[in-house]
Amino acid sequence: MPDGTHTILVVEDDPAVRNLVATALDSRGYRYATAATGQSAIAAAATTNPDIMLLDLGLPDLDGIEVIKRVRTWSTMPIIVLSARSNDTDKIEALDAGADDYLSKPFSVGELLARLRATERHLGYMSDDAASQQSLFENGGLCIDYAAGTVSLDGNELHLTPMEYKLLCLLAHNIDRVLTHQYILHEVWGTSQDGDLASLRVFMGTLRKKIEENPSRPRYIQTHVGVGYRMVRV
Ligand code: CA
Repeated sequence: MPDGTHTILVVEDDPAVRNLVATALDSRGYRYATAATGQSAIAAAATTNPDIMLLDLGLPDLDGIEVIKRVRTWSTMPIIVLSARSNDTDKIEALDAGADDYLSKPFSVGELLARLRATERHLGYMSDDAASQQSLFENGGLCIDYAAGTVSLDGNELHLTPMEYKLLCLLAHNIDRVLTHQYILHEVWGTSQDGDLASLRVFMGTLRKKIEENPSRPRYIQTHVGVGYRMVRV
């Protein structure tokens, strides 16, 4: 997918960083909107319907984590966190709240654009599935409608983030096969984030909370300790 086909919402209170990001987006022909506070970010997310959000965590009015949580109550748009907080706890907290990716400050423009392209590929992956002939996957009460890009459990629609959806589709495409952590990381994140096992565990945790009746005794996705995960035919 060429650059510039999606609209990006840039949420950042530091004008220097905001301008840097805006200039980078401009240079690739992206459409974008900006917000400098958490409240205006939530309002802009709801009214301008962006495809991807770039979100600073340190905002003057609301914590970025709170912004993620609120946006996630109605939207599955990809959220890429830009943050000076780079320890694992903050990263896991952001991913757990529903962020799709995390970029530590200072970051290079090249790195930012690469993450955006990776995120756009996930959006593309969702629409590729939409074009596939076999448009329904069913396993027990779990149903993926690739044409609609929706997932339901026992007839109730689930709200998955793009990353959770991609993870679920990958396991579904390979039903009954054990997929190694390495393989999943490569398929879902590409090669740029190799070895980020902690993030994979977080996404698996949030996905299980949505698809498993009892996430501590999962029925659909089995853990193979030290190896990877397998979707079991139910
Ligand atoms: Ca800030």
